[in-house]
Amino acid sequence: MTQPRPTVTRFAPSPTGYLHLGHAFSALFTAQHSDGKFLLRIEDIDTSRCKPAFEAAIFEDLAWLGLEWEQPVRRQSEHFDEYARALKQLEDQGVLYPCFCSRRDIRAEIKKSGVAPHGPPAVTIHGPPAVTIHGPPAGEEGPLYPGTCRRLTDDDRKRRRDAGDAFALRLDSKKAMQTTGPLRWTDAEQGDIDASMEKLGDVVLARKETPASYHLAVTMDDHLQGVTLVTRGEDLFQSTHVHRVVQALLGFDTPEYHHHRLLTGDDGRRFAKRNQSLTIRSLRDAGKTPAEVRVLAGFGDES
Ligand code: GLU
Repeated sequence: MTQPRPTVTRFAPSPTGYLHLGHAFSALFTAQHSDGKFLLRIEDIDTSRCKPAFEAAIFEDLAWLGLEWEQPVRRQSEHFDEYARALKQLEDQGVLYPCFCSRRDIRAEIKKSGVAPHGPPAVTIHGPPAVTIHGPPAGEEGPLYPGTCRRLTDDDRKRRRDAGDAFALRLDSKKAMQTTGPLRWTDAEQGDIDASMEKLGDVVLARKETPASYHLAVTMDDHLQGVTLVTRGEDLFQSTHVHRVVQALLGFDTPEYHHHRLLTGDDGRRFAKRNQSLTIRSLRDAGKTPAEVRVLAGFGDES
């Protein structure tokens, strides 16, 4: 008889600030759903915003909370060559195109077309300001891309590349879905979902300044690390459509997904400035025990 596959989960913070209660909730939720194999991954492709001191604090705070994870810890900034190989594979399939637009160009194009910029659906990020609980690095997603560079001719592209103009690589969402055909993925709470890139459009897979993006790195890593259940906040629900399509293009299996609620304050509303004090380390400095912090994050009881 074959043994059932163990459930492999991962908690994947970006070291751009101190972990707070929202992270504690997500990490504990993720560890609880693992079946012995709980991974920790450091998502630090944005090397300008990530700091070694925050990474060290992540290890310390999670250990203080009582969590144990597999070794070695994967650090995304050490794997740019793997992301580059995947990009090459996607380029060969003709589903990527170079995008030379700046954020300002994109805004101007949207204004010119007079069409409302249907960006990714607005999500309320519950948590202390200035620290992302989940999601692509700030500014990566932006409004729905109007497709300006998708319409460039091969000659234009060559001319601008030869001139040394910086470019990102975008996934041509229509072409990608034509290539893969209809796809599905499953969320533990919402059931079977038909993959659709309509809400996010032609997302960036390699940024101008970084040869990868959140969407590419996360999809690759979940595959390479054998993650079978991706647990993360519901603010990343739309991103999963993109990841499903990239998995199909690269020939990866699809994990199960469980998008969890985002932690809110006692009043049910998003955290406000006062919650700046709700980082794990400030709670610890204020004399809270790990058990008390787990309760504040919605796990266990104080007795
Ligand atoms: N690195 C992301 C964050 O810190 C989480 C990505 C994911 O769980 O897919 O927000």
